[in-house]
Amino acid sequence: MDFSEIRGVILDMDGVLWRGDYPLVDLPGFFARLKSLGLKIVLATNNSTRSVPQYLEKLRGFGVMLGPENIVTSSMAASSYLSQKYPSGAPVYVIGEVGLKDTLREWGFHYSEAEDVVAVVAGLDRNLNYNILTKGVQLIYHGVEFIGTNPDRTFPSPSGLTPGTGALLAFIQAATGKNPVVMGKPEPYLFQLSLQRMELSSSQVLVVGDRLDTDVLGAQRIGCKSVLVLTGVTTPQDIHPPHSVQSILPDFILNNVDELPNLISNPHKV
Ligand SMILES: [Mg+2]
Repeated sequence: MDFSEIRGVILDMDGVLWRGDYPLVDLPGFFARLKSLGLKIVLATNNSTRSVPQYLEKLRGFGVMLGPENIVTSSMAASSYLSQKYPSGAPVYVIGEVGLKDTLREWGFHYSEAEDVVAVVAGLDRNLNYNILTKGVQLIYHGVEFIGTNPDRTFPSPSGLTPGTGALLAFIQAATGKNPVVMGKPEPYLFQLSLQRMELSSSQVLVVGDRLDTDVLGAQRIGCKSVLVLTGVTTPQDIHPPHSVQSILPDFILNNVDELPNLISNPHKV
């Protein structure tokens, strides 16, 4: 592959940059090397519960100074999708936490429970109750567009796996018989917004992640080359499962993300 064309990278965060509160590599050094190669950087996450300032704060805690232009979340992808379809200021019904609600508000959408909402936007809400779900189900049942922030069925927590947005979407799907338009990986919206942010085309960008079914598949769907790192959920055995008919294969596999600058600047040595 000709890396001279590469101008930007889209990085997944958990399992690539850190695991929980522990950095996986020397993060300040890693970002300094990416910047010295002149690469544009977007950190893209399916997580809709955290806001951009919260991610910047986390990065700062690891000694990494990035700006809001470097973060793209599934809440932003949902807002961008809505803004292309509906007028600014349109009412939306939201099932989700502060990260999703604040982002939609910043993009000019206002929260409403009235019948004239243009969409029901559903993301993870850890204070969810039956009434909140019922309202969303009734609106969708009456024809309002159903948008989901991300498809992840589980969500890691210190106590183990917890139900994720995908499980919540499945509840609404079962009740309404309608499928959501999903914003997060592996669907294209989150990555498309990331490319727009960088003002680059898919052939100029590498997608880096730790999951085959989200990061790598999503990269394939928008035409980006993909890099799988082995610091997250995927093990070498997962890459060529013995009984798999069609496995999702990354273009490159790295032990950790620290090897990425070398891959881009000197691909023949990898
Ligand atoms: Mg990850």
